[in-house]
Amino acid sequence: MLEKLGEVIRKATNKIANAIFLDKNLVDSIVRDLQRALIEADVGILLVKKLTDKIKKAALDERIKGIDKKEHIIKLLHDELLRLLGEKKELNLKTGKEQNRIMLLGLYGSGKTTTSAKLGNYFLKRGHKTALVGLDTHRPAAQEQLKQLAEKNSLKYFIDLKEKDPLKIWKNLIKEDKLKNYDLVIIDTAGRHTLDKDLISEIKSLSKEINPTESVLVMPADIGQAAKKQTQEFQEAVNISGIIITRMDSTAKGGGALTACAEFSENEKESEKTKKVGVYFITTGEKINDIEPFNPKPFLSRLLGMGDLQSLIEKIKSATGGDEGKQKAIQKRIEEGKLSLDDVISQVRSMNQIGGFEKIKGMIPGFAGMEKKIPENLMETQQEKISKWEHIIKSMTPEEKENPELLEKQTSRIARIAKGAGVSGADIRALLKQYKILNEMIKSGPEMTGDFSQGLSQKQMMKLAKKFMKGKKLRF
Ligand code: GDP
Ligand code: MG
Repeated sequence: MLEKLGEVIRKATNKIANAIFLDKNLVDSIVRDLQRALIEADVGILLVKKLTDKIKKAALDERIKGIDKKEHIIKLLHDELLRLLGEKKELNLKTGKEQNRIMLLGLYGSGKTTTSAKLGNYFLKRGHKTALVGLDTHRPAAQEQLKQLAEKNSLKYFIDLKEKDPLKIWKNLIKEDKLKNYDLVIIDTAGRHTLDKDLISEIKSLSKEINPTESVLVMPADIGQAAKKQTQEFQEAVNISGIIITRMDSTAKGGGALTACAEFSENEKESEKTKKVGVYFITTGEKINDIEPFNPKPFLSRLLGMGDLQSLIEKIKSATGGDEGKQKAIQKRIEEGKLSLDDVISQVRSMNQIGGFEKIKGMIPGFAGMEKKIPENLMETQQEKISKWEHIIKSMTPEEKENPELLEKQTSRIARIAKGAGVSGADIRALLKQYKILNEMIKSGPEMTGDFSQGLSQKQMMKLAKKFMKGKKLRF
């Protein structure tokens, strides 16, 4: 997801930090790299120009000198990128007796049906009584698709294969009081190729009848900057309260879609009549857990290779289901930098559900520089490996489980465990290596493992900048 853009920004930060003298040539070349990368990510040219002009101006400002200037520019770049991404916007569900109704809107193929299921699963895992309602009667297979997704993930759903009028389907559900037991109802609607009269009139009448708590526009990331126009058009037709950007994993244009939405919401602030729109969630793959709340600060932090522990913890939450005790324990040990071998196993297992190591590597602080050091396939999620590891752990003494380092000091232990577990010494060493790497990553500097939900603080930024400036890259 936007890997290339992240890489260019990291390089630019390095260049600034390591420069002995920030002369015009250097500044120009950094600005050119940034411009190219941002435009490739489909960020609007005007936005890009505004950002790079500010950087240039600060860089050539004679009043700020030396190290202060470098810190200033790195901070400025960070702040401006953050501004491009917009503000955090959360889907606020009411608790209590009132029913929440989230209506998903969007054109053909934008990802509404898959997102309905992802969103349903997301909130189900967070304790909501959730039901999906299929109102797409346009495509013959649409309701069937919703049904399959729902059944696969144990979600309640309501469809009507005989009725062709979505309004009637809804009215029937209400009349028969089918939805009364759910505090969250997610409504999948039909799309069209474009927002034509037919679609407008359909979503208007549905909206009037359903009276949704939230009307969420679903758009695929690959439309890039066009997200702005599409949001405006839908906003004119019905009141959009928020946006979900899908397929962030499959395009380099995600930057365009995100920044276009942020720009739109910024403009919206000027007018009091319309509600502010912003991005609630992004989706990053075809699996049920490939959805995450969009939170600009940690998102940027991840883009810059500084990790995003908050999202990682959220992902673990989705994968471990409502088991709060387990989540808290893992979270605490992540924060303390002391995972046990059992944690490693359960992590690897839940990675299967999360979608593999590929999906989470950017969320681990400092991972950007570390990538090459990790042997290929080390964290692959094969079932075979997991069960081998479970056997190994069962053959270990409690003392060894607590302090796996013991095995390195006394290799006779490895031989004993190998025999007991029916595995080779190499298998045990592979597990130890995995354990060490995870713990090292997590321990790597206290400033990297703080609470990233608020993004990087100024102090953390400065610390980072100083680290860069000593010519030392992050310690990975
Ligand atoms: P709808 O027509 O708006 O209901 O769109 P669908 O939910 O049927 O999705 C259209 C296609 O996009 C399907 O093939 C989905 O599997 C795919 N899709 C949806 N979200 C994502 C995503 O986040 N990543 C990827 N790679 N594919 C997605
Ligand atoms: Mg659909």
